[in-house]
Amino acid sequence: MNPLSLFNMPNWQAYCQKIIHLSTFKRQIDCLRLDLIHPIVSGNKPLKLLGWLECFQQSSYQGLLSFGGAYSNHLHALAFVGKELNIPVTLIVRAYADQPLTPTLQDCQHWGAKVIFADKQSYARRYEANYQAQLAREYQALVIGEGGEATEQHGALGEKGCLGLAEIAQHYDQVWLAVGSGTTALGLAKGLADRQASTKIVGVNAVADHGQQAQNWQRLMSPSVDWQLIDDAHLGGFAKTTPELLDLMAIYEQYQLPLEPVYSGKLLLAFEKSLPQLAAEKVLLIHGGGLQGRRGYASLFEPAMV
Ligand SMILES: *Cc1c(COP(=O)(O)O)cnc(C)c1O
Repeated sequence: MNPLSLFNMPNWQAYCQKIIHLSTFKRQIDCLRLDLIHPIVSGNKPLKLLGWLECFQQSSYQGLLSFGGAYSNHLHALAFVGKELNIPVTLIVRAYADQPLTPTLQDCQHWGAKVIFADKQSYARRYEANYQAQLAREYQALVIGEGGEATEQHGALGEKGCLGLAEIAQHYDQVWLAVGSGTTALGLAKGLADRQASTKIVGVNAVADHGQQAQNWQRLMSPSVDWQLIDDAHLGGFAKTTPELLDLMAIYEQYQLPLEPVYSGKLLLAFEKSLPQLAAEKVLLIHGGGLQGRRGYASLFEPAMV
């Protein structure tokens, strides 16, 4: 089965929504709603899996394995794809077995994925090539980097499915997106470079990584592409929230743009703050999906959101 046929691979234009709420700024501000591309596995995660699935199909591996947190959109998408394509999936999860399963992990198990709980120490080894090779042998599985990111053995396969985002982004002065592993942005940059587009990439880092991602991008970003990484919009760290963020999410909810606090909420907050000085006429914001992860935060939004 062609993995592409799993997702109704979008006519991107159909997923662009004008952000009316920001119309006083007299610019064209559109949002690419990747959260709408599939009813269950939405967002950029299925795109990042495409290259890995291609590799799997050409390999002799028996299954797929990857790493993530208990609310991980990546693991959620991977488990769903495994179920649909009948591929055994193993998930190494940074969580403890004696704690209640999150809705995300409940779905994954329900779809047949094997959940392995890793304590902080073992989870910290997820980038090590040796550890990955050991897991690959043990589970006869293709090891996918955390969040779909590159591994030493197989390279940046997660970027492949993201190149096509440039098809729509090339028509804008700037494209803004939230950054976790950086895979989506790096793939988008390749797509823009292929099209010789002058669109600038602005990433809003959701991780407090002390400049690590900025260094990666210096090294890996296509040299012809103009980019900026905003490193001070994480609100204290990954998945940390503030009342300001939750208020903003509640406002966008009213304008039919559902956000989650980890990525898209921080993207919009950083974007709004930059708007008065923004030097761009046409801007595309990429909504990376991830609304499934919001279930675990439900109590945070009350009473602002119902
Ligand atoms: C994973 C994710 C991102 C970040 O994508 P990367 O390719 O890891 O940088 C952004 N938004 C959402 C909703 C995500 O789930």
